[in-house]
Amino acid sequence: MYTLGIDIGSTTSKCVILRDGTEIVGTSVVAAGTGTDGPQLALKEGLADAGIREEELAYTIATGYGRKRFDRAQGEVSELSCHARGVHFVFPEVHTVIDIGGQDAKVLVLNEKGRMMNFVMNDKCAAGTGRFLDEMAAILKLDISDLETEAVKSKNPAAISSTCTVFAESEVISQLAAGTDRCDLVAGICQSVAVRAVSLARRAGVKEKVCMSGGVARNAGVRNAMEKELGVEIVYSDIAQLMGALGASLYAYDNIKSSQKKAQ
Ligand code: ADP
Repeated sequence: MYTLGIDIGSTTSKCVILRDGTEIVGTSVVAAGTGTDGPQLALKEGLADAGIREEELAYTIATGYGRKRFDRAQGEVSELSCHARGVHFVFPEVHTVIDIGGQDAKVLVLNEKGRMMNFVMNDKCAAGTGRFLDEMAAILKLDISDLETEAVKSKNPAAISSTCTVFAESEVISQLAAGTDRCDLVAGICQSVAVRAVSLARRAGVKEKVCMSGGVARNAGVRNAMEKELGVEIVYSDIAQLMGALGASLYAYDNIKSSQKKAQ
């Protein structure tokens, strides 16, 4: 039996297809979020990856910022619950999840069973989110996926003192003009995101083990800076950006199982 979780974010649409609630058989990440054709495309690519047709899906749950606008799902579940569920499935030993997406950052504290005990969120300010990194990458004429390779080259990360994205942008431009190495600027930019995420995590109360989820987790520059700032190891999976979609797919499996039980 196949279930689909679709995470419709502000910038990206992601799908996870599970077989029998245990095995990931199809995934997709499309760099277009809510209000675009990103969700339809992510669905199409996810189905192609799994090698199945939409009619073969037993149940679909949508999550993320645009979850209420996806009428091909039978239900929806909040991003917080889905991230907690997805992370607990992959890393049952994780108690703190630092999720940085395209326009917000959240820290979730989980108990042994993966239930969310506390969370804090920054959705007011672009600094400390993927958007900040996207804008800085554009200024530096780099692809978002190149930030990590630049960051690791740095021996002397530049200090980015502005707390506001707009001011930080002009700071980066003037440091570039003054001859600061691009890799040092990238390392400084990653560090500034890490500092904000760590302060959010401290407000939530850090309990080891700690993991990162969301698209920004794919950036090793941010992960490394975060480990240094926090002083603990950050657990990471290649499917970090898919944790919400994975959680949604697991919820979809629960729903179909419980409706099958009721029908018996
Ligand atoms: P949302 O759900 O809000 O759309 P995501 O969790 O999908 O956000 O994260 C999107 C962010 O992930 C982007 O803003 C970008 O900064 C970052 N990102 C996406 N792909 C990569 C990549 N290959 N390497 C590093 N960062 C990435």
